Amino acid sequence: MTEVYTLDLNFQGIPHVIASYLIKHPRGAAIIESGPGSTIEALKAALKVHDLTVDDITDVLLTHIHLDHAGAAGWLARHGDHGQGARIYVHPNGAGHMLNPEKLINSATRIYGPLMDQLWGEFLCVPEDKLIVIQDQQEVVIDHLRFCPLDTPGHAEHHYAYLLEDTLFTGDVGGIRLPGPPHLRVPMPPPEFHLERWRESLGKMQETSCKRLAPTHFGIYDNPEWHFEMLQRGLDEVEAFMIETLPADPPMPAISDKFMQWTGARAKREGLPDEMTGAYEAANPSWMSATGMQRYWRKYRVAVG
Ligand SMILES: [Zn+2]
Repeated sequence: MTEVYTLDLNFQGIPHVIASYLIKHPRGAAIIESGPGSTIEALKAALKVHDLTVDDITDVLLTHIHLDHAGAAGWLARHGDHGQGARIYVHPNGAGHMLNPEKLINSATRIYGPLMDQLWGEFLCVPEDKLIVIQDQQEVVIDHLRFCPLDTPGHAEHHYAYLLEDTLFTGDVGGIRLPGPPHLRVPMPPPEFHLERWRESLGKMQETSCKRLAPTHFGIYDNPEWHFEMLQRGLDEVEAFMIETLPADPPMPAISDKFMQWTGARAKREGLPDEMTGAYEAANPSWMSATGMQRYWRKYRVAVG
């Protein structure tokens, strides 16, 4: 079994929030996720532990283009692979934003305002000759390594999970699960959170019969069956929350407050220590999920119901 190493990008000084996964090969190394621009120094430090530098990164596979997963891809496309630039692999629906990230940066700036830089750092475009757009299940071959991308919408329409042998890198569609007491949250950002597509993606991930899961937030877990059950339950619980809350079309702050309370009560029920709340919120802010749920509900449930 090919060894997979977890690189902790120590996002905002908090351990175990954003991972990049390192897989070595004879010419250097591939990573899954670049992490954001703000954690490039942490990435360098984590590579050093393996006697590697950015020079050794030949290939970067992105699960999707959200800033916490892909923000440093443009930088790696200039500095990786001994200064020739690493190759960046992406879903067709995300490719345009990597070549021309202006819209992505503008919409993130509207959300994060003055915190934008501190949180995410610089987002450089990926030069066209370094961007490789891959189709669903089109194998990515890097030396002896073979990665199979699985089209897995629900969290975002441009999301892949990657299967390497029996390890599945689930990006965000596998949910948020940090080391510690078993607890899983569903990240539902606007504008593309979609419950039914997510359920289909869950089925696809289960069909892989993988033995290990590596969600970007955070770590490698060897009990995929339990994990998928928790994800299924998480989706069911979120749907129940939406059915109870959203038909009255309450204003956004009310949805956000109620969802924060709901999330807190659920964490307590599952025995999550209070000191882990910050890490879960850093990986997946509840207010953002509230926004994503409202958008989904108005677009898909009100319109058809
Ligand atoms: Zn995401």
